Amino acid sequence: MIGSMMSTSLTVPSLLDHANRYHASTEVVSVATGGGVERHTWHDIWVNARKLASALTKLGLPAGSRVSTIAWNNHRHLEIYFGVSGAGMVCHTINPRLFPEQLIYIINHAEDAVLFVDETFLPLVGKIYRSLSTVKHIVLMGNTKPKETYGLNVLLFDELLHHESEFDGWADIDENQPSSLCYTSGTTGNPKGVLYTHRSTVLHSLGGNQPDGLAISARDCVLPVVPMFHVNAWGVPYVAAATGCKLILPGPGLDGASLVELIDSEKVTLALGVPTIWQGLLAALGSSGSKASSLKRTIVGGSALPPSMIQIFRDQYDVELVHAWGMTETSPLGSINNLLAKHGELDEDTQALLRLGQGRPPYGVELRLVDDKAFVLPNDGKTQGQLQIRGHWIVDTYFNAEQSALTTDGWFDTGDIATLDSDGYLVIRDRAKDIIKSGGEWISTVELENIAVAHPNVQSAAVIAARHEKWDERPLLIVVEKEGADIDEAELLSFYVDKVAKWQIPDRVIVVDALPLGGTGKILKNRLRETYGDALLAEPA
Ligand code: AMP
Repeated sequence: MIGSMMSTSLTVPSLLDHANRYHASTEVVSVATGGGVERHTWHDIWVNARKLASALTKLGLPAGSRVSTIAWNNHRHLEIYFGVSGAGMVCHTINPRLFPEQLIYIINHAEDAVLFVDETFLPLVGKIYRSLSTVKHIVLMGNTKPKETYGLNVLLFDELLHHESEFDGWADIDENQPSSLCYTSGTTGNPKGVLYTHRSTVLHSLGGNQPDGLAISARDCVLPVVPMFHVNAWGVPYVAAATGCKLILPGPGLDGASLVELIDSEKVTLALGVPTIWQGLLAALGSSGSKASSLKRTIVGGSALPPSMIQIFRDQYDVELVHAWGMTETSPLGSINNLLAKHGELDEDTQALLRLGQGRPPYGVELRLVDDKAFVLPNDGKTQGQLQIRGHWIVDTYFNAEQSALTTDGWFDTGDIATLDSDGYLVIRDRAKDIIKSGGEWISTVELENIAVAHPNVQSAAVIAARHEKWDERPLLIVVEKEGADIDEAELLSFYVDKVAKWQIPDRVIVVDALPLGGTGKILKNRLRETYGDALLAEPA
């Protein structure tokens, strides 16, 4: 048959070229690490990303080199995203909240050649530098050298770019080449690297941004509060370039008050982040009196959503909260919650209940449930099973791993326990390693935690499986009290009556000063199990 279509590579720099070609004057606003707002345009970002690509090539780095960042969300970080990938190298974003041993492990494992650092994190790098075996250059993301450089020999980002005038073009890129690298948070075992390709990144940007997905348009002003070191800020920098929206990068100011100010001054229409960020934002909105009137939508994901948040955003601020699910291995978008036409007739509270789930997969990914023996389970909204996923932007093999991470029939097991209904709506019930197996029945720790945090005296809560002589495991509730509150165990447990079946009510309550948190702000349940896992053993059965 004669006839064909053009075949051009799906590459990360092509996204930025588009932003420059058709949205050159749209603003990218960035909060500087030292404070103050810096204004650039997509054209400026494009110019600087190209300069950076040239500068990196002149440093003598071969194609495929890993170039890492320890940085806030700011314009230089955005330029690095596109400049590094556009130079045919791999942009490795590092979470500064990890423990120093994990940082050393990750940087050495990735064999990072260059480390771009925001001034905030210089002391951290100074502490671990001697243990890094492959880093040749450290580049400070700024325009002036600070007085104290913690024994590090630093290059300056702006000086590096200053010398570049000619640009030979982006590297010659095959779309299946890697473009970026993120490590999983690794609550158990060593962190594992997920190596995204140009193709997977572009397909994630296109597939994830459909009207029933992120739905970002050129008319939006988008604030990714989700860090650029957390699964590429959920892919928002790439989607932003593809759509040419106005982009607001909040720098280090992630507290509620700073975010409210930014939303109001820049007229943000869409903000994205994890639930804890929105708790801070809602508190700050309450005390500032702001109505966040420009804000239309917020996309929330990364951990379970507190049930009341949808209604608070809807009733007090007229903001639509869209719940999404994903993981480092899934780029991250695996599902996102928008309603179907048939749900339009439901009342608002029933709709809110549906929206509390994690939503449906966009075109490009598929979800299924399997049992312990790998039999596929029905999508009936009731049967719980292990959630598996496959698609264009899902991991196959971890970075430098010897074996594929997939099942023999080509699916990735997420480690989550979930239900799926006949419309494909996903509800995450728990992590497989967290769910409680009590006398053969499963109890969701997430459900019990949601009830606990709805109690007026509870600040935060975690439920773990504690070993039990008769039932194997029973739920144990660990809580942090609200300031000035005094928790009564029996009263708190009675709060569960009528909300869950009697046998699901936790056996005991332990009050602690704080819950242990990992690098991405998630509660370290394995740590709690180590400490409190035997707390019920002395109890009578
Ligand atoms: P990470 O790779 O660090 O982003 O963690 C991914 C894990 O976070 C998933 O496997 C889920 O267990 C959890 N997670 C992400 N989004 C949600 C969500 N919307 N609701 C509940 N759990 C979530």
